[in-house]
Amino acid sequence: MTEVTTPATPASADFSSFDLHGALQQALTKNGFETPTPVQQRTIPASLTRQNLLVSAKTGSGKTLAFLLPSLHYLLVNPNFYAGTRVLVLVPTRELAQQIHLQCQQLLEGTSLKAALITGGEDFKKQQNALRKNTAVVIATPGRILELLTLDTAPFENLDTLILDEADRMLDMGFSDDVLTIAKQCNENRQTLLFSATLTHAGVLKMADKVLKKYELIALNTLRDELPHIQQQIVLADDNPHKEQLLAWLLLNETFEKALVFSNSRAQADALCDPVRAKGVRAIVLHGDMDQKERQRVMKLFRDGVVNVLIATDLAARGLDIKGIQLVINFEVPRNGINYLHRIGRTGRSDETGLTITLVKHTEWNLMAGIERFLRQSFIRRSIKELAGKFQGPKKLKASGKTTGGKKKVETKKEKPEKVKVRHRDQKNIGKRRAPSVENSNAST
Ligand code: ADP
Ligand code: MG
Repeated sequence: MTEVTTPATPASADFSSFDLHGALQQALTKNGFETPTPVQQRTIPASLTRQNLLVSAKTGSGKTLAFLLPSLHYLLVNPNFYAGTRVLVLVPTRELAQQIHLQCQQLLEGTSLKAALITGGEDFKKQQNALRKNTAVVIATPGRILELLTLDTAPFENLDTLILDEADRMLDMGFSDDVLTIAKQCNENRQTLLFSATLTHAGVLKMADKVLKKYELIALNTLRDELPHIQQQIVLADDNPHKEQLLAWLLLNETFEKALVFSNSRAQADALCDPVRAKGVRAIVLHGDMDQKERQRVMKLFRDGVVNVLIATDLAARGLDIKGIQLVINFEVPRNGINYLHRIGRTGRSDETGLTITLVKHTEWNLMAGIERFLRQSFIRRSIKELAGKFQGPKKLKASGKTTGGKKKVETKKEKPEKVKVRHRDQKNIGKRRAPSVENSNAST
């Protein structure tokens, strides 16, 4: 999965600091591009090192130049006229392909490199010829490329860079299998860049695992940008028995149609089920190693509302897409920010509102603080009066008087993340930036 994110380039940097090929720099100047946008600042240096990247940033943030510049730079400094197609950009729509093609031509002006547009609705023969004519850059929609692949033998065997732009939209439009098929026919040693407006889309992380395998994540969105309809809360707990009480209380007192409870292990998921059932919660466990039939039976019970609480591990819940999940409870803090995103992406689908509650005991505090930094959002601290525990956060915070109390009293944590000691392994996936406070957490644009 992912490794550490790239530290941001200093905000003052302009395009010349990337040391791009002269032709590209000239084209940028000619077209009035001076200062890279944040996604360009983060992506260009990382991409120049030729690693695989998963990049999430809002629409309009400048993703096109973020992938065109480093991939075209690589072509220009490593000329290979006989290699055929060396950069393939896959996009969901013809209009988008045309737009990118135009920007690409602007950048390649003054070089001998050619870019071709291969989309449906255009002359097939002409496009086939373009592929054969050593066109270095191809910008395409998946459908037409698949058609061409049935005729042409291995046009992408020398590909240097595969770019999947607007991956979330490609998934929505049903291109997932097409994209995977095309990716399989590309040079295995290529670099792959996957761009998406969001990370919480059901299929994006899954596609990244399949197509990029090992990759670095550059997330420009804050959690609030990603999931504006979902409230993120934490409830502190003393130990697992205390957590079990809290879990049952929440499942009995919160209002929801369906709820998902996550644990980090199968054994823990199993252990949770009977105690909450005994208290009257209609719960069932979803196992990672259930056979397909059993899994389908459980899912049907949950979907139909016969049970309304599903207790699962990360693995078992991957790819679940069920309507009406309004509550996600993390019985344990997930192992990293990506898993957290996977979990909460199950709720608040298509503008439904949702609530995520993570139960945190003292040994998990640092892990949770790391996830908050990674997602650049402070979670809301909530305490349950009936089940108040002793653990009130790290000692330093307690000393500053920030404790909780009162039924369903909600207050925002104001701890300074840098005062919390973080173990090395918690820092996986965490950029070097500090978590901004809730108020100014939109550092993504
Ligand atoms: P996205 O793909 O993230 O939606 P685009 O790449 O389409 O965004 O860029 C959005 C707009 O911003 C385009 O009109 C583009 O020309 C412009 N743009 C991109 N990068 C810069 C920059 N560094 N400086 C000024 N304008 C930029
Ligand atoms: Mg775009």
